[in-house]
Amino acid sequence: MPLLLKGTEIKPGINGAMPIPTFLRVAIPSPVHSNFDYLAPAECNPATLAPGMRVRVPFGKTKTIGILVEVVAHSAVDNSRLRTALEILDGQPLLSADLLQLAQWASGYYHYPLGGVFANMLPALLRRGKAPEASNSRGTLRRWRITPQGATITPDSLARAPRQAALMRLLHAHPEGLNSAQFIQYPGDWQSTLRALINKGWVGTEKVGDMENSPQPREQCLTLNPAQQEAVTAACNALGNFQAFLLDGVTGSGKTEVYLQIIEQTLARGLQALVLVPEIGLTPQLIERFQRRFNLPLAVLHSGMSDRERLSAWVMARGGQASIIIGTRSAVFTPLKNPGVIIIDEEHDTSFKQQDGFRYSARDVAVMRAHQANIPVILGSATPSLESLHNVNSGRYHSLKLPERAGSALHPSIETLDVRHQPMDDNLSQPLLTLMARHLAQDNQVLLFLNRRGYAPTLLCHDCGWVAECLRCDAHLTLHQGTRLLQCHHCGAQRALDKYCPACKSADLRALGYGTERIEHALKNKFPGTLITRIDRDSTRLKGALQTLLDGVHSGASQILLGTQMLAKGHHFPDVTLVGILDTDQGLFSADFRASERMAQLILQVAGRAGRAEKPGQVVLQTHHPDHPLLQLLLTQGYHRFADAALAERREVGLPPYSSLALLRAEASHRDHPQQFLNQAREAAQAFIQPLNGAGVELLGPVPAPMEKRAGHYRAHLLIQATRRSDLHQLLDAWLPGLKKIPGQGKVRWALDVDPTEMV
Ligand code: ADP
Ligand code: ZN
Ligand code: ZN
Repeated sequence: MPLLLKGTEIKPGINGAMPIPTFLRVAIPSPVHSNFDYLAPAECNPATLAPGMRVRVPFGKTKTIGILVEVVAHSAVDNSRLRTALEILDGQPLLSADLLQLAQWASGYYHYPLGGVFANMLPALLRRGKAPEASNSRGTLRRWRITPQGATITPDSLARAPRQAALMRLLHAHPEGLNSAQFIQYPGDWQSTLRALINKGWVGTEKVGDMENSPQPREQCLTLNPAQQEAVTAACNALGNFQAFLLDGVTGSGKTEVYLQIIEQTLARGLQALVLVPEIGLTPQLIERFQRRFNLPLAVLHSGMSDRERLSAWVMARGGQASIIIGTRSAVFTPLKNPGVIIIDEEHDTSFKQQDGFRYSARDVAVMRAHQANIPVILGSATPSLESLHNVNSGRYHSLKLPERAGSALHPSIETLDVRHQPMDDNLSQPLLTLMARHLAQDNQVLLFLNRRGYAPTLLCHDCGWVAECLRCDAHLTLHQGTRLLQCHHCGAQRALDKYCPACKSADLRALGYGTERIEHALKNKFPGTLITRIDRDSTRLKGALQTLLDGVHSGASQILLGTQMLAKGHHFPDVTLVGILDTDQGLFSADFRASERMAQLILQVAGRAGRAEKPGQVVLQTHHPDHPLLQLLLTQGYHRFADAALAERREVGLPPYSSLALLRAEASHRDHPQQFLNQAREAAQAFIQPLNGAGVELLGPVPAPMEKRAGHYRAHLLIQATRRSDLHQLLDAWLPGLKKIPGQGKVRWALDVDPTEMV
């Protein structure tokens, strides 16, 4: 897709000569891969046009908004058939040249239409034609702070209005005031709560400009240990140049402190820092840590924000008013006025890969963005992905190691707990219960991990063997006792819990297996009087709930913490001394070649929650396979030896990172259609593979997806594996356009996934 992102070849008519006709090449969100040509609006001066501006255009029977990518003097389309663009929405390009370039690269690499890439890059309000302005008073930043009258109100006295109490607590903690971007850490509709407080006279507002002469004291940097110092120095020496670093530091080794000090030096040079964190890593705790350190406007971007909040953060980042931008996956596309550094925390996390539509990896896009912007990028993790370790081994990334925990904290001891022959009480072995009692008696906290929410994953009729299944998926329904619902965790379908077996009318329906809800129930009986906090998607569904639960843990009120992987990342629980992983074996036997890597990462991340402060931590893994070689290797030799062995195995069989993959996915409501389409696609590919000289490009499948039926659709896929990435892309470029001509392709929904991370 050769695109010229330059507007220079346009020459307005000189001295009344006939103006050269001007055509606008516009990227529009549509499944069509090419861009669309339009005639320029009559009143528009072509000299003012530049790529990156939004254009409103007629499209089919409707109107839509696209991005101008090129202004050209010739169109391949018969000019009489071209329609005229309706309106140029921007006086200045909305997207800068560097983001246009990044979008173009991503479109080519992920084989996704450029218009669709832009749609993923822009906040919703900009896609709908709103002006790029912060939501309050045309771009001026406002801050709210507690009034003298408000200062006399103790938040605890507002027990009847918990939302107001929470906001007051936040404002009390920030006497210097908070701007709208900072409020975003407060979940839910903070505006209406804030309005209530303003009406009471407890909170006042002012423009940020008015406050600059009242700088607030900020938290001091910690004194770095030598390994941290080396990492900060190396990264800061690279400011102004592209270099990719892997900050490979065990949990609690002070990676965040390293980020903070790199950012500090970045800001000192007048540059901005973009920080990407996993979906569930963006906790209020982390944002507060940044705010304590930097008394500066912070732009926060995540999926829970309102459209106006997103737009404000975007505008502040683009205008340079926000020096630090911190967000989840899609924040990788945030415009930066003065890009300085990109940091990706927990780079191994799977949430950086988008799993539908534009299936990009924010980590990989970030590295490309840093390359194009000529700035350093830092990938941090205690359990780096095998891809990144491979990039270190091959010299592409520079490795920075933090081998020890920071401060006085020690590595936790991790051991397996062989549950074979052990009496199990609700999936809790006797030795584990004894250990828990011992840690609790010493006034410490215990964290239990089980990666399955709900009460039980299966509901079975004891009389006839009937099992509650989802009608739309190849999956069992999960029993949720609290809501008395049966839920499908794959398509979201739910229905009321049956009283009687639908097959034989028996009342003997039994819950099989364990979810967090059931364990919570069991713990309440075993440890009466001990407060238990369960953290999973169900217990945190209401906005603000997660924060309230975490507060209970941090205050020490709650002694047992139980949860899914929502608990595994980013949290710092100083009083947790025992971590129990209840179902270690879940990850040991899976068809997915990444399963063992994921298992090792999860075990170490969960284990990393233990003993992060002065108290030593103990981690036990309940397992039926204590001798499993991978588990043994991980526990006795550590993550890096495990990773070496896993990489050697991948090399042996030619899997990534020793090859490149793409997955052609197809789904349809008829079972045969995806396979038929993929069979023809496979045939079509053969013609292009031959000229590649059989250069290590292989087609595998098509096969039905591991869960063939999901949400009422049958799914299948064809895997393309290539030894060399360039061969893969050469094949895709040649092959994909023809897929639209396959007879019957209209009956299936198909999509390409480059560098897939999930084969499901
Ligand atoms: P990570 O991000 O690697 O998990 P953190 O940056 O959260 O680690 O640090 C873990 C703990 O160690 C925090 O409580 C932090 O304040 C402390 N810490 C980090 N660096 C230092 C240091 N140089 N000296 C003392 N304490 C430190
Ligand atoms: Zn039955
Ligand atoms: Zn379902």
